[in-house]
Amino acid sequence: MPKGTLSLNLNLSEDMRLTILGSGTNIHPSRAASGYLVRTDQTILLDFGPRTLANLLKTGVNRHRITHILFSHYHADHFSDFITYFFDAMIFTKYQGGTRPPLTVIGPRGTKKFFRTLFATMPGFTHAPFAVHFKEVADRTFMIGKTTVIPRTVTHTQNLHCLGYRIEYGGKALAYSGDSQYCDSLVRLCGDADLAVLDCSFPASRPNPVHLHAGQCGQVAKEAGIGQLVLSHFYPVTDRYNVREQAGEAYGGKIVVGQDLMTIKL
Ligand SMILES: [Zn+2]
Ligand SMILES: [Zn+2]
Repeated sequence: MPKGTLSLNLNLSEDMRLTILGSGTNIHPSRAASGYLVRTDQTILLDFGPRTLANLLKTGVNRHRITHILFSHYHADHFSDFITYFFDAMIFTKYQGGTRPPLTVIGPRGTKKFFRTLFATMPGFTHAPFAVHFKEVADRTFMIGKTTVIPRTVTHTQNLHCLGYRIEYGGKALAYSGDSQYCDSLVRLCGDADLAVLDCSFPASRPNPVHLHAGQCGQVAKEAGIGQLVLSHFYPVTDRYNVREQAGEAYGGKIVVGQDLMTIKL
């Protein structure tokens, strides 16, 4: 690097990068639960399940510069590290002289009520010395800087509004299923995406009604015509099966079996 050239950790190349913070579920011996770091012109978190905060620290990303957290739904395996993260942000800004930009928390219907209740219950949470915004979204595209975010309702459990997200930046598209069954809206969300991260909770031979299994992940990938498939959200039992082979029965493209702290450039 020539003398005098600034070396900054900025993303100037219009690349989009995905880092898996957690490829497992609530209790898993070797994987954190659901969480993903997406780097565009923004640094965005998708879900924030248990043990993903520890992995976020390992990425070297400054946690105090994160401005947007997108939640698919509020099952604990997608959410619980938010509590630790927010408490730390309060200590940092209140007692350690730190500053941070406003934090915007985005999620499905019920998000505002959920956080109103949580913040009223957790000691000190309503007195954070930085701005916090809550936004409910459903099926309407919005922008964060130059990054396009397309939330779409997917079918997971009864009576719970759950979202998948599609993130577009620099001509590339990344789709994330959140937790989902096989459904048309998920296939549309993933349509022609360069990469899709799908809920591969279970192997094809041990299906569960509220999640995709590996074979269905391959089916969604094929029908949506995606560029590459990342399998994630493994229950412990699933690690005993060859999910790549099961997904590959329907889908002939590239299949990645997700691992914590794996980074993929789109
Ligand atoms: Zn769930
Ligand atoms: Zn889940």
